[in-house]
Amino acid sequence: MKCIGLALVACLLGGTALAQTAPLPMPRRSAETPAAVDPAIAALRDKALRDDTALAIVTSLTTEVGPRPDGSEAEGRARQWAIAKLKALGFANVHIEPYDVPTWQRGHESAAIVAPFMQPLHAAGLGNSAPTPTGGLTLPVAYFASFNDLLLAPPGSLTGKIAFVSNAMQPTQDGSSYGSEGRARFLGPSEAARRGAAAIVIRSIGTDHTRAPHTGVTDFAQGVSPIPAAALSVSDAENLERMVRLGGRVMLHLELDDHQIGMRPSGNVVAEVPGTDPAAGVILIGGHLDSWDLGTGAIDDGAGVAITAAAAHLLQSSGAHRRTIRVVWFGDEETGGFGGQAYARAHAQEPHALAAESDLGADRVWRFGTALPQGAGAVVTRLTAALGPLGVVHGSKLVDGGTDVEPMLALGVSGIDLNQSALRYFDWHHTPEDTLDRIDPEQLRQNVAAWTTALAILADAPENLMAPKP
Ligand SMILES: [Zn+2]
Repeated sequence: MKCIGLALVACLLGGTALAQTAPLPMPRRSAETPAAVDPAIAALRDKALRDDTALAIVTSLTTEVGPRPDGSEAEGRARQWAIAKLKALGFANVHIEPYDVPTWQRGHESAAIVAPFMQPLHAAGLGNSAPTPTGGLTLPVAYFASFNDLLLAPPGSLTGKIAFVSNAMQPTQDGSSYGSEGRARFLGPSEAARRGAAAIVIRSIGTDHTRAPHTGVTDFAQGVSPIPAAALSVSDAENLERMVRLGGRVMLHLELDDHQIGMRPSGNVVAEVPGTDPAAGVILIGGHLDSWDLGTGAIDDGAGVAITAAAAHLLQSSGAHRRTIRVVWFGDEETGGFGGQAYARAHAQEPHALAAESDLGADRVWRFGTALPQGAGAVVTRLTAALGPLGVVHGSKLVDGGTDVEPMLALGVSGIDLNQSALRYFDWHHTPEDTLDRIDPEQLRQNVAAWTTALAILADAPENLMAPKP
């Protein structure tokens, strides 16, 4: 620690003096309107903490289907698996809502440093990457420490080069660093192509230090011709970075036999727990059934489909409820959110009370946020009281729903976020390590308990959840 200027005295006096000159904000101590937790809801919450339906669903999906990339034959098998599973769980109106998606397919891929020190690299193509020419590309590396540095490169400056963007992602509980650092993947390839690059490699958008590369989709802007684009594992990116820092020219060889294969069938799998009052609106919950090809899609998003279906199943077992719970296992999320868009197109005119999604792995829910009409404030009070024993606090963050339900939220539908801890999620996200053994059964059950509790309150809330929001 450096001690400079006016801060010197306080700094030398240590933390206590600093705390006195800059007091920390005190926690809120004003008593909020209390709400009693309905004993039936408390009992259902406690039952959910002992329920392993979610674990059984995600175990079955990862074992009996495995990787299920968008538009693939495996995604089709996943839909058939889903129909059988949801029927066996006793859901009503189980069916597929089909649509077609533009499909990208991974082929043989390899990457290596060829100078100054020959070394193979662990890399994976990004979804929508163009193929390299036959025999691959061998070109000098143009290094950028961050996506921002890439943006500062002038047009044409990357002609004949492979751009290398190496910003590091730090773990955050709310997962917000995915949004900021993820730009290197979402937008980096398009920006490198605009500047003339022949290809791009990025440091994986991940928080691990392993040799498992993190794939994921990239979007080329309209009018920009796609270039080959790959993610290096974090360990390989750091190795390449060290070579760059030694000075001199670093040559990279990249081969990606990845292709767009045209439109292929996808579809959303829909199931319901019918309610007693159709006018009160549908509660839409779900996760996405597709996954990247490298792992078996356990945390992304086998966990989310399992959590939401298990919660709806528990609610169903507790008797009749006012609102219909509709579980949707969205088909395409990873490559363009086509599943959520297809749902919104098909169901925009139908009254929806609320929409919510589980798509941040299987670790515990720590916070919830709501976007509800003004007159529904008491719902939040009841949620706060009932979720508190699970260690879930009410936050002030705006509700963002998730890719699959965003199109419905954009139409003005109310929402709730049950935010999961993302501290470990991006260690394995979109890697070969996204497998069942990453799921902690106890934290998975806590998720189910939080969702079941929230659903029980929302399904029977007497408040109008469909009134215009402030
Ligand atoms: Zn996901």
